[in-house]
Amino acid sequence: MSTLLVRQARIDGALTDLAVQDGRIVATGADAAERLAGAEHETLDAQGALALPTLVDAHVHVDKTTWGGSWVSRKPMSTMAEFIAADAALQQRTRVESSVVSRAGSLMRHAISRGTRAMRAHVDVAPPHGLLNVEGVVAARTELAGAVDVQIVAFPQMGILREPGTAELLAAAAASGADFVGGIDPIGVDGDMERHLDIVFGIAREHGVGIDFHLHDEGEAGAREVLAIAERTRRLGLEGRVTLGHVFAYEGADPETFDRMNRAVIDAGITLVTVALGGEPVLPVYDLRDAGVPVALGSDGVRDSWSPFGNAEMIERAHLLAYRLEVFTDEDLQHAFDIAAHHGARMMGLPESRLRVGDPADFMLVAGEHAPQAVIDRPVPLAVLKGGRVVARDGVFLDA
Ligand SMILES: [Zn+2]
Repeated sequence: MSTLLVRQARIDGALTDLAVQDGRIVATGADAAERLAGAEHETLDAQGALALPTLVDAHVHVDKTTWGGSWVSRKPMSTMAEFIAADAALQQRTRVESSVVSRAGSLMRHAISRGTRAMRAHVDVAPPHGLLNVEGVVAARTELAGAVDVQIVAFPQMGILREPGTAELLAAAAASGADFVGGIDPIGVDGDMERHLDIVFGIAREHGVGIDFHLHDEGEAGAREVLAIAERTRRLGLEGRVTLGHVFAYEGADPETFDRMNRAVIDAGITLVTVALGGEPVLPVYDLRDAGVPVALGSDGVRDSWSPFGNAEMIERAHLLAYRLEVFTDEDLQHAFDIAAHHGARMMGLPESRLRVGDPADFMLVAGEHAPQAVIDRPVPLAVLKGGRVVARDGVFLDA
């Protein structure tokens, strides 16, 4: 753990010093230098750069990225079955070229260099892959411990019921490194909501892991899934341990359904996650803020078989969220930033980094005046600190 004096950082419009010790901010302002007087420490001169909390990627697929490898050309695809088949085929091809641990690690280093402090990684678990992807991401997490906090979701990308053997693999993953068990479209992909939920909730209870669903089902089916998951969550006492990603049921929901889903989600302590992808539905985060529903933000797939887009840069994701929802006031841009920084931290059970005394020293130095400007400018961080240690400079990850 390094002891560090950060001088002349811009916080809330004023220049101030920060004293960092044992991974935390221990003093600010005039007290900072005094606090470290007599203690051996390094000094980092921010030269007026803006200090901002680092960000949390609440939903990313690091295992099947081709990041750092050769370019993949994609053919036109339209159905979910085509995408899922192409995904499995590309993963088997890329596995020959490079391992999951090297590709996942490469993307994670990039994300850290752009200001990511933590991520929840959805990792494919399916008969064609067995537990290889989970093992690869567990290894990458171990390599990068101290630079980023990683939670792993065992994710049944190909469905559970439609791919026999998946349920057993999910249970094995939950017993060997995965922190969460995932699910996917219980109706749309698996065609039997109750059996799908029985398996996912059963594994969660048996192995003491949380639950994180992908829900792309829209309309009445999607709403039914949200309500059924919330009801089970409460019934089984799993409040605070369940997350729902995408939740396209919110797209075009009538006011009554919108309110019903919100009440169910709040009562069950569920967090929603949106990813603000191209043409797909994005959660109405400003309406959900007003309704008191917690929403976090993720970057989803990055340069994998599903899409060449994505880069796991969370400041860009906050930008895309604000852009998609067409907001422009500082207050709304700040909210997009807060979702990426604080809501994700809360979802992962991490202490928030708000640059206060006692907060974890997880922050970055960037060009600009304040967070709303950063959401627009998407600056490459001049320095990224994790637990008080400088882990990246000028967009380059620093090996420990
Ligand atoms: Zn996903």
